[in-house]
Amino acid sequence: MSSIAGNIEALMKALPGNVAVVAVTKTRSPAEIMEAYNTGLRIFGENRVQELMLKKTILPEDIKWHLIGHLQSNKVKQAVEAASVIESVDSVRLLRMIDAESSKQGKKTDCLLQVHIASEETKTGFGIDEISGTDWTAVSASLAAARLCGLMGIATFTDDTEKVRQEFRTLAMLFRTLREKHFGNCPLFSVLSMGMSGDWKTAVEEGSTMIRVGTLIFGERITI
Ligand SMILES: *Cc1c(COP(=O)(O)O)cnc(C)c1O
Repeated sequence: MSSIAGNIEALMKALPGNVAVVAVTKTRSPAEIMEAYNTGLRIFGENRVQELMLKKTILPEDIKWHLIGHLQSNKVKQAVEAASVIESVDSVRLLRMIDAESSKQGKKTDCLLQVHIASEETKTGFGIDEISGTDWTAVSASLAAARLCGLMGIATFTDDTEKVRQEFRTLAMLFRTLREKHFGNCPLFSVLSMGMSGDWKTAVEEGSTMIRVGTLIFGERITI
């Protein structure tokens, strides 16, 4: 067995069955991605639209590609064309652009709202107050082709597990609050995407339904 297949097998053994895996393939070669694909994984994540599109054209059609990196407005058209899920929606303006473009292309695009839970300023996403203060009932009623499916967050990059746990806990609480307040009748709002290679166990303990792991599957990245 290749080390990639072995890594996936070990992860699957440790992961509760109701948690989905996004295999993060940024910087990875098509051959490496195919090794993961051949173990049965079908959800892959890229943080750049260009790289996602390129890989989508050469890899099997039944892969669901998730865009997990910041999306610039001039790339919305390509992102909607290529991605099944856009996990990194960080403004209502971007959401409306995705909605308009999805309508134009005659497709539905599943979206996650990215929430800024880390202490690093460099990370993008809605502020927690911004998310809590928005009337998502009204926003989602006004959407024609973008679907709000849940939240995504990235914890602080630190060895301090308690800090990471608190950040995930905050996000999980926000997720449950929004679901009850704004998405009571919508089973679609069901995804809580949190947890990466270094902190997925903590994320799962705090209620994650989807982890995004690259290093754990493919090994250390040479570049970012
Ligand atoms: C790169 C990346 C990941 C995966 O990181 P690993 O530490 O390699 O698991 C997850 N989420 C996002 C948004 C990323 O950019």
